[in-house]
Amino acid sequence: MNRLAYMRVGSLAEARQALALPGSIALAGGTTVTDLAKLDVLMPDRLVDIMGIPGLDGIAVEAGRLRIGALARMADVARHGEVRRLAPAIAASLECAASAQIRNMATMAGNILQRTRCAYFRDPASYPACNRRTPGSGCAAIGGVTHNHAILGVTDACMASYPGDLAIVLAALDAVVHTDARDIAIGDLFAEPGSGTETILAAGEIVTAVSVAADAGAARSSYLKVRDRQSYEFAAVSVALAVDLTRDQPDIRVAVGGVATRPWRLPAVEAALRAGPPSRERL
Ligand SMILES: Cc1cc2nc3c(=O)[nH]c(=O)nc-3n(C[C@H](O)[C@H](O)[C@H](O)COP(=O)(O)OP(=O)(O)OC[C@H]3O[C@@H](n4cnc5c(N)ncnc54)[C@H](O)[C@@H]3O)c2cc1C
Ligand code: SF4
Repeated sequence: MNRLAYMRVGSLAEARQALALPGSIALAGGTTVTDLAKLDVLMPDRLVDIMGIPGLDGIAVEAGRLRIGALARMADVARHGEVRRLAPAIAASLECAASAQIRNMATMAGNILQRTRCAYFRDPASYPACNRRTPGSGCAAIGGVTHNHAILGVTDACMASYPGDLAIVLAALDAVVHTDARDIAIGDLFAEPGSGTETILAAGEIVTAVSVAADAGAARSSYLKVRDRQSYEFAAVSVALAVDLTRDQPDIRVAVGGVATRPWRLPAVEAALRAGPPSRERL
């Protein structure tokens, strides 16, 4: 791990200034950043601790939307009454993610922006080739052990799966990610795998909140995660569902995790389910 500076900021303006300095990285709960810095995957010159920025950890219902602050801790969101009532799948995805200790530290934005768990990505000393770490360097996973890699959204540059749970639910709920500069539909957030950038966020852009419509689909949402062991494990495959049968035309949204390079919606499955009760032929 390289020597680095630590800075704590108290406002968005201070954070913007600090993150504009070369070699700066935003630090929230730190459970991904410190992990990857210790592995020399990330080699920041400066960690900019944004947890002291006031007003970014609230949970509120505003104009028909459930809005959750970027710095709200995973554990606090998972047990929040309005989250459980208005979007139970969000709570479910957080409850089955990581460990209790990590959920007590880690934040909403940090969870969404976590990096892949590809073993080759996480071991730069043994595997220098990785287009995600060093664009154009190749992919050490090709021909290697890939049982945890993606089968959907793979490119010649990268086949790493997106590891998070929360963003799968956010994809099914058509969430919006709010930053200090703009609003981004969750489906537009993630960049092409191996393109040299993980998301479309600009350098130093700060996520301030995430919101979902507090509608019937969110209220009837659920999340199912299958993993190699029952705790402390990433998804082998997971499914988020949002179902609204109160309309003339049922609204059914489905996203999968663990098997794709980014949170992955299944429009053909959604169309088949909207067309009538599931049957072997229809699916
Ligand atoms: C052993 C282990 C098991 C795990 N299992 C799971 C699991 O099963 N499911 C799952 O979903 N996750 C799992 N995780 C991942 C864990 O949930 C993430 O590490 C955590 O959510 C990251 O949140 P954080 O606040 O600590 O982020 P940080 O480490 O602080 O930041 C993560 C990234 O987000 C950026 N960032 C953070 N906040 C902002 C912001 N507001 N604006 C802009 N950029 C920002 C940082 O710069 C960094 O790039 C696991 C982690 C570990 C170590
Ligand atoms: S699959 Fe992606 S993250 Fe893994 S080694 Fe290849 S390029 Fe890197």
